[in-house]
Amino acid sequence: MNMTKEEKRTLTQLRVLFLGKQAEAGVWEKGQRHTLSTNLHHLKIYPHQIATLNSTHPTLTNHLKSQPYPLKQTHIHKKKSNPAHCLTLTPHSFTMNSIALKTFVGLRQTSPDAQHFAAQPRLPPPHRKLRIVAGKFSPKLQGRNLRVAVVGGGPAGGAAAETLAKGGVETFLFERKLDNCKPCGGAIPLCMVGEFDLPLDIIDRRVTKMKMISPSNVAVDIGRTLKPHEYIGMVRREVLDAYLRERAKENGASVINGLFTKMDIPKDNNTPYVIHYSSYDNKSSGAGEKRTLEVDAVIGADGANSRVAKSIDAGEYEYAIAFQERVKIPDDKMAYYEDLAEMYVGDDVSPDFYGWVFPKCDHVAVGTGTVTHKGDIKKFQLATRKRAEDKILGGKIIRVEAHPIPEHPRPRRLLGRVALVGDAAGYVTKCSGEGIYFAAKSGRMCAEAIVEGSENGKRMVEEGDLRKYLEKWDKTYWPTYKVLDVLQKVFYRSNPAREAFVEMCADEYVQKMTFDSYLYKTVVPGNPLEDLKLAINTIGSLVRASAIRREMNKLNV
Ligand SMILES: Cc1cc2nc3c(=O)[nH]c(=O)nc-3n(C[C@H](O)[C@H](O)[C@H](O)COP(=O)(O)OP(=O)(O)OC[C@H]3O[C@@H](n4cnc5c(N)ncnc54)[C@H](O)[C@@H]3O)c2cc1C
Repeated sequence: MNMTKEEKRTLTQLRVLFLGKQAEAGVWEKGQRHTLSTNLHHLKIYPHQIATLNSTHPTLTNHLKSQPYPLKQTHIHKKKSNPAHCLTLTPHSFTMNSIALKTFVGLRQTSPDAQHFAAQPRLPPPHRKLRIVAGKFSPKLQGRNLRVAVVGGGPAGGAAAETLAKGGVETFLFERKLDNCKPCGGAIPLCMVGEFDLPLDIIDRRVTKMKMISPSNVAVDIGRTLKPHEYIGMVRREVLDAYLRERAKENGASVINGLFTKMDIPKDNNTPYVIHYSSYDNKSSGAGEKRTLEVDAVIGADGANSRVAKSIDAGEYEYAIAFQERVKIPDDKMAYYEDLAEMYVGDDVSPDFYGWVFPKCDHVAVGTGTVTHKGDIKKFQLATRKRAEDKILGGKIIRVEAHPIPEHPRPRRLLGRVALVGDAAGYVTKCSGEGIYFAAKSGRMCAEAIVEGSENGKRMVEEGDLRKYLEKWDKTYWPTYKVLDVLQKVFYRSNPAREAFVEMCADEYVQKMTFDSYLYKTVVPGNPLEDLKLAINTIGSLVRASAIRREMNKLNV
C-alpha cells in the first residue's frame, strides 16, 4: 500500500501508543486475552473525526484496519462521550480517546488559563482566520532593522542568535557567564552535527557502543545496528556553547556578557520591550553595571530557571533534578570508554530515570536524575557510581554539578512578542532526558519565524508571527514527546519492567528503530511483520517480568 511519509510516520506513532497504552493498563500482565480488544474499545474516534481522517489520511485509515490491533468500525462510537478524555495525536490528523491514558501535559497549550491539553477536545484554533500576517499589515521600520534580544547563550540562544543575525535582524545575545559549564551529559544525535554544521573537533567522543544495563546487571549492547559512519556525539557544554555563541557573533550578533534581571512589557504593539540587565562587559570581577536596552522582540533561551518565563508569567513545570560527577579515570580504564557509553536502570540508580556513564575527552561523566525522589538524589548517584565501580576504579572526581531538567512544556510559551525556547520552554524528552538538540532546533525555528515575519528585519513583528514557530514545533515534535512519555511510564515503573525493557533492547529491530529515531529525529516507518514480532516479544518480556515480580513478591511475604 502506498502511504505518504506523513501517514507512515503517524502510523508508527500509533502503533507504539497502542502498545504502550495496553502495557500501561496492565492488560498483558493480567493474562486476559480478551482485554486486548476490550482495551481497544477505549480508543474512541468520533464519526466527524473519522470523516476528517478519511479525507486527510485515506490510506492510513485503511491501513489501520489491517493492523495487528485493527481499529474496526465496531470500535467507532456513534455518539459523543466524555470529551474530557480526548487527546490529539497529531496536530493535523485526528483525535482519539483512551481511558487508559492518564493526564498528559501536552505541547499545544499556550494559555495559562486553559486546562491540561489532554482534557481538551481537538477543535480548530479559534484565532486561525483572524491571524494577521506581518508581511501584509505590520508597519515597515524606518531607518533601522528589527531589534531582538536573545536571553541565554546555551544551544537554544546560540542557534537563535545566529539565525536572526544571518536573517538581517539586529541581534543582542545576553549570556551571564561566558565560560559557563552547563551541567550536562553532553550526548548529541548525529543529525545535530549535520544540521548545525558542527566541526568534528568540538566533539570529544564518537560513541558507537551503548550498553543498557538492567537492575540485575544484565548488559545489552544496543549499538549493533549502527552503520560505520553513525555515532552519538559526546561534547563538553562549555565547548559547544562557546562555539555556537562565537558563530552567532561572526554572523553579526552582539554578544553581551550580562545578567538579564527583568523587562518592562509594553502595552501596545509599537512600543519596545525594555530589558534590564547587569553588564559584566569589560569587568573582571565585582557587581555588574545596571543597564537597559530597548528591543522589538525577545527570545527567552535562559534555561530551566528562566527569568524571561517569569516575566511573561509562563507558569511552572514539573522538573527532574539531575546530578553529575566528572570523574578522571586512569588511562587503561578510559580506553574501555573510548567509544562506549553506559546507561543503568534500576530502583537503586533512579526510581524514574536512568544513571549514565558518558565518556568525555579525558574523563567520564557519571550521573543520574529523578523527578519523584529529589531528596534522595545523592543516594542514587552513589548507587550509579557503585554499579560502574569496576570500570571507574581509581578515578578522581574533578567536578560535581546538578541542575533541573524540565519534565514538560510550560503552560505558556508565548506572549506578545516574547517567545520561550529550549529548556525555558520545557523541551526535554522524557525517558531519554535529551534536550540539547531540541534547544538548538527550537531556537532556530523561533528565529526563522521572526526573520520571515519581519521580512528580513524590515518590518515589525506581531504575536501571530512568533506563533508560527509554536505551530510548527508542535506539529513536528509532539508525537516524539508523547511516545517517549508513554515508554517511560511503561518501562521505568519497576525493576521487572526495566528487566523487560533491557531484554527488549536486545532485539535488533528495536535497536534500529530506536537509534534511527534518536540519531535522525525522524520516526522510521515500521515493517508490519517486524512490528508484530516486536509486539509478541514485548508481551513475552512483560509476562516474564510479571512472573519475576510475582516470585519476588512471594519471597517478600
Ligand atoms: C545533568 C544533566 C545531564 C544532561 N544530559 C543531557 C544529554 O546527555 N543530552 C542532551 O541532549 N541533554 C541533556 N541534558 C539536558 C540539556 O542540558 C538541556 O536540555 C539543554 O542544556 C537546554 O539548552 P538551553 O539552551 O535551552 O538552556 P541552557 O543550556 O540551560 O542554557 C541557558 C543559558 O542561559 C544563561 N542564562 C540563564 N539565566 C540567564 C540570565 N538571567 N541572564 C543571562 N543569561 C542567563 C545560562 O548561563 C546558560 O548559558 C542534561 C541536563 C542535565 C541537568
